[in-house]
Amino acid sequence: MMTNTNWGLIGHTWAVNLLRGAMERGELSHAYLFTGPPNVGKRTLALALAQALFCESDAPPCGVCRGCRLVASGNHPDLHCVAPETSSGWLGIDQVRDLGRQVSLTPSLGRYRVAILDDFERATAAAANALLKTLEEPPGYVVLVLLAPDADALLPTIVSRCQVVPFRGLPAAQVEAALVEWWHVEPERAALLARLCGGRLGWAVQAALDPAPLQFRAQQLEELERLLGASLVKRFSAAAEMARTPETVQETLDVWCGWWRDVMIVAGGADIPLNNPDMTERLQWCAQAVGVERAAAVVQAIRDAGEQIRRNVNLRLALEVLVAFDLPRVP
Ligand SMILES: [Zn+2]
Repeated sequence: MMTNTNWGLIGHTWAVNLLRGAMERGELSHAYLFTGPPNVGKRTLALALAQALFCESDAPPCGVCRGCRLVASGNHPDLHCVAPETSSGWLGIDQVRDLGRQVSLTPSLGRYRVAILDDFERATAAAANALLKTLEEPPGYVVLVLLAPDADALLPTIVSRCQVVPFRGLPAAQVEAALVEWWHVEPERAALLARLCGGRLGWAVQAALDPAPLQFRAQQLEELERLLGASLVKRFSAAAEMARTPETVQETLDVWCGWWRDVMIVAGGADIPLNNPDMTERLQWCAQAVGVERAAAVVQAIRDAGEQIRRNVNLRLALEVLVAFDLPRVP
């Protein structure tokens, strides 16, 4: 599905144009910071950029030459991807130092070395400082792409050395059309997933292919309901339990936030599409019991907790503050 007009991507056209223009003018930055929510398309564009840089055809990225295929299979010797270690949940200083050493070597196949640093908000302070060294004096052939939810989560000294490319969610109609056209999802299911994904095509595609994301959402909504009726002691123990799997916390908060935003919309009678259009009955009941102002306060509390977590405040503490919030009881 490589289409040269948009580097094979759906949406984010301006970001593709920005990078392509810089490439054509020979003005590519040495470091980019792609910001935006998980599964919105940051990594896909970073890989497309790598293909464009390594492509051996006249119309990069062609998707079929050796360079493009080696990127797609994850085997290009000049492409270096690092992500937080699954054991610790952090991107460590040794990983960044290794990367610095690798990218300083002359490219083995083409004219560039490209490094993609995934989830850079989970780099330790030492790792971030180690990257500064590479950012200060990068060899001319190095292009670094950092991925993170937002620039505020990173050291200002890192951000100031990168060109920031903010990704926004795609319109639901665009996600819906893409699911039907490219992934052959049934129209009704495509419409639901397009609403649920909050503009994150990657999430919608995963949910179309694999039941896990939808099951996760259902579990998180059940957990939310359970917490609303629970004692403070039980809520604290739920917060401690959540803190044990840091990698899923933001996704949980997103599900909760989407739910309360819907409650707020229904309670306020606003004519805005819902995040959870398959649950309107439950939402109406909840909206009547809670009201627009309290729903808005919960949305704010969840956003505050997410913000604190992104700023690396103690995870368990941030969750305890959230669950201790005067959550409305829903009958
Ligand atoms: Zn190619």
